[in-house]
Formats: sequence, structure tokens, C-alpha cells
Amino acid sequence: MASKTYSERVNIIKYVKDAKGWRFAPVAKRPNGSIHWDHVLIGGTAQAHPEGKYFIEWREDGVRRRRSVGSIPSDILAEAQRQRALLDAKAAGIEIAESESVPPTRQLLIADAAERFLRDIKMNKEPSTFSHYSHCLGLFKQSLTKASIDAIDRDDMMDFQAYLYKLGLSPRTVKHKTVIVMSFLKVNGVGKLLSKGDWPTYTELDPEIYTPDELQKFFEACTSDEFLLFQFFLHSGFRDAEVRHAVWTDIDFAHGTVKVKRKEVTKAQDWQFQPKSKRVREVPLPDVLLELLKEAKKVSTSRLLFPSKTHWKAPNAHPGGKPSDEFLEYCKAIAYRAGLNCGDCENAAGEICAAAPCCNGFFLHKFRHTFATLHLQSGVDILTVSTWLGHKDIKTTMRYLTSARGTDVRKKVNDGLLASAFSPQARQAPLPDQIAQTTLS
Ligand SMILES: [Zn+2]
Repeated sequence: MASKTYSERVNIIKYVKDAKGWRFAPVAKRPNGSIHWDHVLIGGTAQAHPEGKYFIEWREDGVRRRRSVGSIPSDILAEAQRQRALLDAKAAGIEIAESESVPPTRQLLIADAAERFLRDIKMNKEPSTFSHYSHCLGLFKQSLTKASIDAIDRDDMMDFQAYLYKLGLSPRTVKHKTVIVMSFLKVNGVGKLLSKGDWPTYTELDPEIYTPDELQKFFEACTSDEFLLFQFFLHSGFRDAEVRHAVWTDIDFAHGTVKVKRKEVTKAQDWQFQPKSKRVREVPLPDVLLELLKEAKKVSTSRLLFPSKTHWKAPNAHPGGKPSDEFLEYCKAIAYRAGLNCGDCENAAGEICAAAPCCNGFFLHKFRHTFATLHLQSGVDILTVSTWLGHKDIKTTMRYLTSARGTDVRKKVNDGLLASAFSPQARQAPLPDQIAQTTLS
């Protein structure tokens, strides 16, 4: 087949630097014939060359042509395949415009499919979801050595997971990313690649919550501004972004509630906010907190409850303040000041939490965990708590039941009807038949 020989002339090469300077070199192959990425042949031997860019190279009408094709294996293979198809078509006498140079086979290239998939996500999901998906598919492409989506099999998915573990990601994160890639593949007609045992396993940890003692010491170490901010975190159960974008008109002082709702860009305000999953919700606040908020509102010059601090260099740059991104910093600083740090954590900069405000035990979402767990413990039903948290699925709220169980279950075990069978009063009082039989016989 002449056309096949023709198309085989598209080579993948890499522009690398060795002792003599920059040069093109053919990519090295593994014994099974697949490309050994980041390895090239120089003087007939394979050498590791992580630097430089990949190119495809072919001959057209007797002239050598090269084109840069980036550094992502699946993209490189896709480009090579496209060029081969173009040459095949040309050899067969079919004229194809450069821009239409799609392969004649029905093979769907991963790069194209991903582009289309992300376009749909961008239209239908929030920006944060889009960037999450886009990053995830990028990692998938990096882990792949195939260009066509139809060729993806179980091994590729296992390689993807191995690649993520190598990047230091946790089993939980690996599972989430695998779910995203599987949904991408499913949309493109590739389903059920993994069986049950192929998925990462991990134990879902109980959500961490602050102890009453920690909360007391934490709030004692707060300034009055900080006190209000973190009381709000604790009693609203709001996410960081929800607190950041809370405005005074979100609070209904008459009914004692605070709303999470959408905020648009206006002439006076250059930021916007979209609640997660576009869900508007309302959370009741305790009276003591409402009183404090009322006082704070009187002296506030901002539309926001907790605007960023005005910058000393430009005090008038943002009249009314901007949403703050400093809450986490405050939280860690207060914990450090209160002497609550565990003393064991080390951050990326190599600081130890015994001597720096960087304890992993203190973070904003932990107030939300505490809010949920304590409400469940005090007997608020799970549906109500779920509504307050703005969860789409009650299963997410059920996570908090485990940590709420501790004291709640003990109380029920100690005070319940069954336990009363052991109490002195119970011995005098007539018992339900079955309990009497099983416990007093
Ligand atoms: Zn610590």
C-alpha cells in the first residue's frame, strides 16, 4: 500500500540541547514500539532530554517540512495523525484544505473531544467547575500516550491514576479526577472501563470540628472585628466565598435570617458573586449575633459585611471596600495568638506551627463543619441542616451525622427506653413484655 508507506514518513522529533547546542533529534522508542517521551536518539543511543519542544517532520514535494506540536503527548500524536491523514488524502488524489485536515477515519481525537466537552461545561457550569474540569483533562492528556479516544482502555485509566499518585495527590482527589475523566469518556461513547476494584479506596474521615474549649480560647483572643467575623462564620455555616460576598441587605433583621444570593456587577461595584449550584438559601442567626451585627452596620461604610481592609497606599481606591481574601490569614493568626496551635505542622515555607501562624488545625471550613455537627447534635433534623448548608444532596450532609453521633448516641443509649430496663425505677414500673424478657430473665 503506497499511501501507507507515504504516511509513515511523518516523524515525531524533538528540538533538544546537548553539548553542541540545540538540534533536532528523533524520539526514542520503547521495546514495544511506543514512544519513550522525553527521550531522543542521539548518535544512535537514547538520551533523556526533558527540555525543548516536539515537532512533526515530513516531506512534501521533495521538501522537508516541520511543525511545532507542543509538549503534550496526546496532542503530539494527534497532530502527527492529522498530518498523516492529510498526506494519505493527497497521495490518493483528494484535495483537502489545510484547515479541514481531519483524519478520514471516524476516529475521534482526544484533543478535539476535550475541547468540545469543555465548551459545553463552560456554557452550563460555574467558572470554578470549568477550571477544575479543564485542569483535570489537561492532566489526563499529559498521562496519555494515545491520540484517539476510541483507543482508550482500562490500562490508560490505571496509568492516569498512577500519574496522579506520582504528583502526590490523595486517593480521594484521584478518585474525583477519575470520575471527571470517566464522565468525559462516557459523553464520547467510551464507558465502563473500570471495574469496582480499579477505583481508589479511602476512608472518608469524619469532618474536623472545633471543640468548645478551642472555640472559647479562639474567641477570647479576637479583636472585636475578628470576633464578629468568626461568630458569623460559626453561626451562619457559610462558606468562605459566601462570607466574603455577604452584604448588609442579605440580613433580614426583622426575621433574624441571612440569605445567600447572587450579586451582580454594578457601576459602584466591580465584583460579582454566584452561589454554588445557583442555590439561594436562608439561615437563621441567633439574637446575640444579630445585635452585634446591628451595631456594626451603624458604623459600616461599606455595602459588604466584612470588606477588605483599606490599603494604606490608596485609602480611596475602592470606596466601600472590596471582598476580602484575608480571612484564612486572620483565622490562623488568632489561633496562634490564642496558643491553640498543635505545634506539629509544617507549611510549604518550612515554618513550624509551634512558632508561626500556620497550624493546619485551623481553617475556615472547620467553622462550617462545627456549625453542621453542633446543630445535628442539638437535635435539628438533617433536612433542615442540609437546607441551611445549601447542600444539593442530603448524602453530603450525612457526613456530619458520624461526628454528631458520638454524644447523641450515648445520650440515647443512656436515656432511652431500653436503658430504662436497668434503672431502679424501671424495676418497679411494668416493662414492655419483650424488654422484660430479654433483660430481666
Ligand atoms: Zn499545627
